[in-house]
Amino acid sequence: MRRFQERLYPDVGQFFDVERTLHRGRSRFQRIEVLQTARVGRALVLDGIVQATEADEFVYHEMLTHVPILAHGAVETVLIVGGGDGGILEEVLKHRSVKKAVMVEIDRAVVEVSRRYLGAICGRAFADRRTELVIGDGAAYVRETDQRFDLIVLDRPDPVGPAAVLFARAFYRACRARLRPGGILTAQNGVPIFQADEIKAACRLLKSVFPARGCYVAAVPTYYGGFMALTWASDRDIAAVSGATLERRYRASRIATRYYNPALHGAAFKLPTYIRDLVEPG
Ligand code: SAM
Repeated sequence: MRRFQERLYPDVGQFFDVERTLHRGRSRFQRIEVLQTARVGRALVLDGIVQATEADEFVYHEMLTHVPILAHGAVETVLIVGGGDGGILEEVLKHRSVKKAVMVEIDRAVVEVSRRYLGAICGRAFADRRTELVIGDGAAYVRETDQRFDLIVLDRPDPVGPAAVLFARAFYRACRARLRPGGILTAQNGVPIFQADEIKAACRLLKSVFPARGCYVAAVPTYYGGFMALTWASDRDIAAVSGATLERRYRASRIATRYYNPALHGAAFKLPTYIRDLVEPG
């Protein structure tokens, strides 16, 4: 049995025993693999870095979507930048309030491979009549579209290669211009224990662009290193929504979740000191 060794960091990492390589190819943008692993089910790997696994994708995809959607209370239009595996899209479409979900993914091959091998993650999201799939650069799309959104989810990989533009101030400014009043942006910002600079830089940029911003956490086992930092930005403090309101909205949504629940929603904003000190220095 072959062993996949993730090489996100030169000196530390994780490995998975691989039962079968379901797909291995190279697109214009990256090396794409889908691995059938012994422990975490099918895994999508881009340029040697784990993007999503069947075993724990629900953690990340639920927390990056249901937290802002239930904090907002009336999300109708959503923009997803990246997200080629379809996991974010599938969670967003669980909400009956969502009328349209635009997903801008730079690499068509990731969508095709995900639809073929990762149905456990994307379900029928790509076939949903509310889905508009755009193949292109998310930064260019946000710059050029005149559409506005209640929620923008940045389901981007680490800030390397084509994704680097999705971490720039100009991109955050353009995203803010595309949000409706009360709209919310959420993004993944790495694992602070190993990627402290990434979360620090992101929070500095968000602070310079948005009136309100912050961080919440989720522990995604295959994003090696403990808590992952999820950042949010808006024109108001979304962390102030009461537990009773979240509970009411969650029940009314009638969505089924495996990680998210209203009590955990509130707790996720209570940061460990080492992350709080990165997010709110001084
Ligand atoms: N959950 C993963 C994580 O946290 O690292 C990200 C998953 S998703 C597969 C990341 C997607 O972003 C990939 O499919 C990649 O092709 C896409 N992507 C990278 N740069 C992009 C860009 N500039 N515009 C749109 N999509 C981009």
